[in-house]
Amino acid sequence: MIIDCHGHYTTEPAPLLKFREQQIAALKDPAQAPSRESLKISDDQIRDSVQNAQMKFQRERGTDVTIFSPRASGMAHHIGTAATSLEWSQICNDLIHRVCLLFPENFIGVCQLPQSPGTSLDNSIRELERCVTQMNFVGCNLNPDPSGGYWNGPPLTDRAWYPFYERMVELDVPAMVHVSSSCNPNFHATGAHYINADTTAFMQFLASNLFSDFPALKFVIPHGGGGVPFHWGRYRGLAQDMKKPPLKELLLNNVYFDTCVYHLPGIELMTKVVPIDNILFASEMIGAVKGIDPETGHNYDDTRRYIDAVSWLSAEDRNKIYEGNARKVYPRINKILASA
Ligand SMILES: [Zn+2]
Repeated sequence: MIIDCHGHYTTEPAPLLKFREQQIAALKDPAQAPSRESLKISDDQIRDSVQNAQMKFQRERGTDVTIFSPRASGMAHHIGTAATSLEWSQICNDLIHRVCLLFPENFIGVCQLPQSPGTSLDNSIRELERCVTQMNFVGCNLNPDPSGGYWNGPPLTDRAWYPFYERMVELDVPAMVHVSSSCNPNFHATGAHYINADTTAFMQFLASNLFSDFPALKFVIPHGGGGVPFHWGRYRGLAQDMKKPPLKELLLNNVYFDTCVYHLPGIELMTKVVPIDNILFASEMIGAVKGIDPETGHNYDDTRRYIDAVSWLSAEDRNKIYEGNARKVYPRINKILASA
C-alpha cells in the first residue's frame, strides 16, 4: 500500500470559495455576512471535484490513500478575528469529512485549525477534538506563523502551545507544521514562506527541550524538511555546540519529513542523510507545483517516481517510506484502513 501523507483539497467546489469571499467582505461590511445555511454543496459537486483530479493522479501514479486536508494557503489565519477563523475552519473541515465519507478508500482527513494571531489555542483544541473524535480525522495542520509571514507570535516551543500539545498526545495525533499564505511581500508563499517555515520549525525544536516535556509528541515537517536535509551537518554541529545529544536522540523520535521534493537529486540526498524511519511518502498534490518537468516529461509532484528511482533503497526501506512510517506517525489510520 502507498499512503500519501500530504494532499490538499485545492479543487474545492466554487460555492466554498464564494462563501469565503463573502465572509471576508463582511469584515468591512457586516451586512454582507453569508449564513452557513446559504452554503450549499451537493455530493455530486464533491465527487466531480476530486474524481478527475486527486483520484485520477492516485490511479495514474499507483498510490492508494491520501491523508487529506483543506487548501493550506486558504487557511489564512491572519484574516479577520478568532470567530472568522473558527467558522471558516469548521466549514473546511466538514467538507473534508464529506470527501472522506464519499471515498473512504481514497482519503483520510486531517484538519485545519482555527488559529488566529494573538488569541489562545482554545478554539484549536476544541476543533481538533471535534475532528478526531467525531469525524475520524487522524491529524492536524499546525501553522507556526498565523500572522502570514511576519513571525510575531511565540515559537512552537513556547509554553503557550503546551495545552494544544497535551491534547494532541492524548488523542494520539501528529501535526504537520504547515504555514498558510504569505502577506509579507518578501516571502513568496510556496517558494519561500513554506520552506522558511519548515527550516525554522526544525531549528526551534532542535534548540528546545520540547520533546523532553512531550516524549510522545509527533510532527511532520513537510516539503522535504525545507532546507534541513541539505544542511544536516550544520544542524548536527549546532546541536553539538549547544551540548545537546545527537539529533537522533534529540528529536528523531518526534520529527519526521515528507517527500515533497520535486526532483530526484533532492530525494537522493534526503534518503542519504535522514534516517529512513523518519521519511514519509507525500506528493502534496494537487498543490504547490502543478507543471510537467521538461527534463523528465513527468509532473514535478509525481514524487513516487523519485523514490522508485533511488537505487540504494531496499524493499524494506521503500515499504517504510510508502506505508510503515505513516502507520507509525498517524496511528489512527490503522483502524480506518482495517475497516475501509
Ligand atoms: Zn501542503
